[in-house]
Amino acid sequence: MKIKTRFAPSPTGNLHIGSIRTALYSWLFACKNQGKFVLRIEDTDLERSTKLSIEAILDSMNWLNLNWDEGPYFQTERLNRYNFIMNDMLLKKTAYKCYCSKERLTYLRQLQLIQKEKPKYDGYCRNNDKYHADNEPYVVRFSNPQTGTIIFNDLIRGTIQVKNQEMDDLIIRRTDGSYTYNFCAVIDDFDMEITHVIRGEDHINNTPRQINILKAIGAPIPYYAHVSMILGDDGKKLSKRHGAVSIMQYREDGFLPEALINYLIRLGWSYGDQEIFSIEEMKQLFSITAINKSASIFNIKKLLWLNHYYLNKLPAEYIAKHLIWHINKQGIDIKSGPKLIDLVNILNKRCKTLKEMAINCCYFYKDFIEFDDNAVKKYLCPIAIKSLHHIYKKLVILNDWTPTSIQLIIKKTADELHISINNICMQLRVAVTGLSKSPAIDVTLYTLGKLRSISHIEQALKLIVSKVK
Ligand code: GLU
Repeated sequence: MKIKTRFAPSPTGNLHIGSIRTALYSWLFACKNQGKFVLRIEDTDLERSTKLSIEAILDSMNWLNLNWDEGPYFQTERLNRYNFIMNDMLLKKTAYKCYCSKERLTYLRQLQLIQKEKPKYDGYCRNNDKYHADNEPYVVRFSNPQTGTIIFNDLIRGTIQVKNQEMDDLIIRRTDGSYTYNFCAVIDDFDMEITHVIRGEDHINNTPRQINILKAIGAPIPYYAHVSMILGDDGKKLSKRHGAVSIMQYREDGFLPEALINYLIRLGWSYGDQEIFSIEEMKQLFSITAINKSASIFNIKKLLWLNHYYLNKLPAEYIAKHLIWHINKQGIDIKSGPKLIDLVNILNKRCKTLKEMAINCCYFYKDFIEFDDNAVKKYLCPIAIKSLHHIYKKLVILNDWTPTSIQLIIKKTADELHISINNICMQLRVAVTGLSKSPAIDVTLYTLGKLRSISHIEQALKLIVSKVK
C-alpha cells in the first residue's frame, strides 16, 4: 500500500502547537514509509476563514520544513466535486433534502431534552415526498444507517464502536449552498487517496459519521489515529496563560525549527528515554503505535532547554542564517561589526534564544551605546574613572589585539591599582557593552575590535564625568 497522509487545518485563527504536532506526525509517518504528505486547507467556513490565517499555515509549515508533496488544496476550489457527489447521493437516496424549519428543529430539540433523550434529528424529511417549490430553502442531510454499529480500530486508542442509532442524519450542505466539514473531509480523503488520517482527538466523534459517508459513496476506509490533547502544567486546556502561542510567534521569540520539532515529537511520542532526535532519526524511528494515549503537558522550560541545546549543537553558519532574521528585526546593520558566525560562537553558550542573542549583541555594531541605568549605578561610579582611565591608556597602545593580551592588561591594571580583577572586568564590561552581562570580557573586547572598544570606554568615561559634575 502506498501510504498517504494529510494535514487539513481550517484557516480560522492562529495555528497552534497541537495542530502542528499532528502535522508533524502525519509528515513523519509519510516520510518513514516513503509515502506522500498532502496539505489541504479546509476553508469552507467563509465567515471565519481568513487569508492571514492561510498565510500563517503556509509560513509555519515552510519555517518548520514540513514540506508537502501535494497541495495546498483548497476546499473552496472543489465545490463542483462536492456538488457532483451530493447530487449522486440524492439520486441514490443516501442523502435527502430537509425542509424542516428552524422552529420545528428547536421544538424537537427541547422536547428531546425534556424527555432526557440525546438531541438528534428525527428523520422527518427522510421519506417525505411532499411537494416543495424550487425556491423553498432546504438543507441536504446524510441518510445515516439506522441499524448496526460502526467499529474502527484507532491506531492509538484501539477499538472504538458507536451504534448507528446514536448518530444524527448530519447536514452535508447548508441552506446557503455551503458544505459542511464532515462531508468535504470525506470526499477529499477519498479523492486524495488518503490511507492514514492522523488528527486531534476532538475529531473522534466525527470518525464514525465519516466512515458511514465513505461507505455510502463506496470509498475505502482509511486508518485513523487520534492524537491526544496538549494541556498546560495545571492540567487545563493549553492557552496563552501557559506560554503557548501561535507557531510563528515561536519564530519571533527566537526558537529554532529543530528545537520546536524535537520538542513536539517528544510531546506525546517516545522512543525509550531518548530526548534528542535529528530529523533523520525521527523519520526512521517514528511509529504511530508509540504515540501516547494520554494528554501531554506543555513545558516551556523544556523547549528553552532544547533550543539552547540546538544553538550550541548545530553549525554556527546555520545558526547565523536564522539569527540574521532577528538581527534585522532589531534594526542592526551587521556590516560595521563582527561576522555573525563569530557572534554565534561567543553568544550561544549564554543565550537560550536567537532573540536573546540579537538583543544582546547591539553593542558590537553600534558606535554609540546605550547604558543600562542599573549597571551604570552599580559599576560606573566616580571611583571607576581611575581604573577605566588606567586600562584605557594601556589599550590605546596595544597592537596585539587578542584575548590573551587584553587579559594580561586587565591583570596588570588590577595589580597596579590593587583592585580585584572581577571589579575591573565589571567596570570594563559596562563601559564597552552598556550592560552588566556579556561573554568573557577579553573575548568581548577582542570581538568588538580596538577602535570600537576604545570609543566605548571614552563614552563611559564621559558619562561618569558628566554625572560627577
Ligand atoms: N479542519 C479540521 C481542523 O482544523 C481538521 C479535520 C481533519 O483533520 O479531519 O480541526
